[in-house]
Amino acid sequence: MAVARPGGTPAVKPSPLGESLISIDRVGKTYANGTIALEDISFDVRDGEFVSLVGPSGCGKSTLLRMVAGLGPITSGTMLVEGLSPKAARQEKADTAFVFQDANLMPWRTVMGNVELPLELRGMEKIARRAQAAEALSMVGLGDVQKSYPRELSGGMRMRVSLARALAAHPRLLLMDEPFGALDEITRQRLNGELLRLCALANWTCVFVTHNVFEAVYLSTRILVMSARPGRIIAEVAVPLPHPRVPEIRTDPEFTRIVREVVSLLGSATDAHEED
Ligand code: ADP
Repeated sequence: MAVARPGGTPAVKPSPLGESLISIDRVGKTYANGTIALEDISFDVRDGEFVSLVGPSGCGKSTLLRMVAGLGPITSGTMLVEGLSPKAARQEKADTAFVFQDANLMPWRTVMGNVELPLELRGMEKIARRAQAAEALSMVGLGDVQKSYPRELSGGMRMRVSLARALAAHPRLLLMDEPFGALDEITRQRLNGELLRLCALANWTCVFVTHNVFEAVYLSTRILVMSARPGRIIAEVAVPLPHPRVPEIRTDPEFTRIVREVVSLLGSATDAHEED
């Protein structure tokens, strides 16, 4: 699938049969208090894919994403990230970035100070990390606010800083938990376009959690629909829309058809839960 690259050179997305970055096989998660959050989850994410997870609130999407990031143990099944356990991948590869709904910026640090923080924690020397952070900030259109503090920025700008922080670390895998959920619709759509542009530039593989079906269809190569808790994958919907995804694609009949399909699957997931 062709994607836009700087300079207009068309690039080819890796084939769907490319290397598996994430392999999840019959994974379950039961919390210490007995809550069964996830049951029998199996899927792979391949290099260059953009996979969205959608499902009713409380179905375990964040739990799943955090486990992929190595931030919590699975309780059954197997999960591999770049061939390692998620925790080992986090420690040894260190090429996964996590973006949350809240931009999670340090209020006492400038924009530059926030973006260079992960590089600082890795021990990168100042000149190199400043250059890498400045490059990331200019890629998200914030090259001129490096010395500002988070409180001086709009919600959309703060989220751009959060994206720049992820970008600066040059990750291979980007995990995003409703990163644009708190933004107004226009800002969300603008940042959706920005995110796709950055994905093509940086060749990220993404797993994205959202409640917004339009957003999932616009961004993804594949959507996994989850049932109500305990979360399971009840359907997988391919999104064969062409890249680059121009904003007008949202009015394309194929876009509308996929949105309807996902909405209908979500409706059946919720109905099944209410009949329990
Ligand atoms: P989602 O992201 O889909 O809204 P979550 O992954 O946040 O769902 O939560 C899934 C379920 O697990 C919910 O019922 C939630 O209350 C429960 N849960 C989440 N974190 C914990 C925890 N640390 N301890 C116990 N239960 C939890």
